[in-house]
Amino acid sequence: MSSPAITDAPLTEADVQRIRADFPILQTEVNGHPLVYLDSGATSQRPLAVLDAERDFVTTLNSAVHRGAHTLAAEATEVFEDARGTVARFIGADDDEIVWTSNATEAINLVAYAFSNASVGRGGPEAERFRLSEGDEIVTTEMEHHANLMPWQELAARTGATLRVIPLDDDGALRLDEMQISERTKIVAVTHVSNVLGVITPLAPIVAAAREVGALVLLDACQSAPHLPLDVRALDVDFAVLSGHKMLGPTGIGALYGRRELLAAMPPFLTGGSMITTVTTTSAAYLPPPQRFEAGTQKVSQAVALAAAIDYLSAVGMPRIAAHEAVLGQRLVDGLAAIDGVRVLGAGIELPRVGLASFDVPGIHSHDVGQFLDDRGIAVRVGHHCAQPLHRRLGVTASTRASTYLYSTEAEVDAFLDGVRSTIEFFGVRS
Ligand code: PLP
Repeated sequence: MSSPAITDAPLTEADVQRIRADFPILQTEVNGHPLVYLDSGATSQRPLAVLDAERDFVTTLNSAVHRGAHTLAAEATEVFEDARGTVARFIGADDDEIVWTSNATEAINLVAYAFSNASVGRGGPEAERFRLSEGDEIVTTEMEHHANLMPWQELAARTGATLRVIPLDDDGALRLDEMQISERTKIVAVTHVSNVLGVITPLAPIVAAAREVGALVLLDACQSAPHLPLDVRALDVDFAVLSGHKMLGPTGIGALYGRRELLAAMPPFLTGGSMITTVTTTSAAYLPPPQRFEAGTQKVSQAVALAAAIDYLSAVGMPRIAAHEAVLGQRLVDGLAAIDGVRVLGAGIELPRVGLASFDVPGIHSHDVGQFLDDRGIAVRVGHHCAQPLHRRLGVTASTRASTYLYSTEAEVDAFLDGVRSTIEFFGVRS
């Protein structure tokens, strides 16, 4: 692996330039301009170390894991399981508490499925925690990505449970005074960082309220794990979901963390090969977690590449990445707020942020803003970012989002801010 050979000091400009050299795509041009990639919240770029890890695996070890009796299969299995251990250590979990999924969306659906009363009667007393009846409650928030909303809507529809949504105030901050967690609450599913506001959720009071009533907690860590040190035990959550492609890894791979006792009580989400001990024509016995949840041929080279991505992040140092992005995030928010005619979503929220900000320019559609920026080689996300309820609450249908990563520079943020100013001048809109 070509890891960045940098010290423990906060990321300097030279560190970031060294990191950038590992990302071939950052050396490219778009529309005649050097690429300014400010869409890492949607998907991050991949360093050579990650591409190399996947290619090395495919060229030297490729074979089916947990199946073949031959040497390649045994070695591939070892590398695949080592990758699981890398994910586990990265978030403070144990190896057998990590389940490979295709993405975070699948991981959330897997957990939601366990509440469909398929768990009841399996796995001892913990299984009771998944019993969900009419009148029981599922709690989520108004700021969730659709991936952490719709599985719970579907679950409520299937079981007759009630979905409660912690509302946002006019600024976009969570109304913790209206937490809606009660004795009937069975699960609280909340994002760690909003993919629209970039604000870090004040988790402690939410987890404490859930604990008080014995509810489980699922953390959507898609926008936090890539950018902040994460320890699932310190946060005291029961489940956490990650998306590989947002943390320097490939698409097609995600991970679910679940507390060991809970995973042991949960039914398989998908059934088929690789997750059984014995099968008859009428019944099957399943392997323990995590294999119970990994039906069919696995995403082996992607898992290996995700482990390489995590090694890369760890070599740079998550606290340093977080510090770097806090600076960029503040620069984004302050710079946008200073532009006449721009409304930064969640600007009034006084909580720590990652390097992500969304904004609206009344009178200019976000697609036009995105197009104008793209003409200058600046890549941002436009639309509702899979968070329609949040946008609706803040009175907009869409926004433009800029999001940074460890390879982003202050100069890129400034180029983006210049681009936004020019967009507004071009369209002739003033507040
Ligand atoms: N949750 C959040 C906060 C996200 O930002 C995303 C992706 O944008 C997801 C969930 C879904 O991730 P995936 O599409 O990789 O399953």
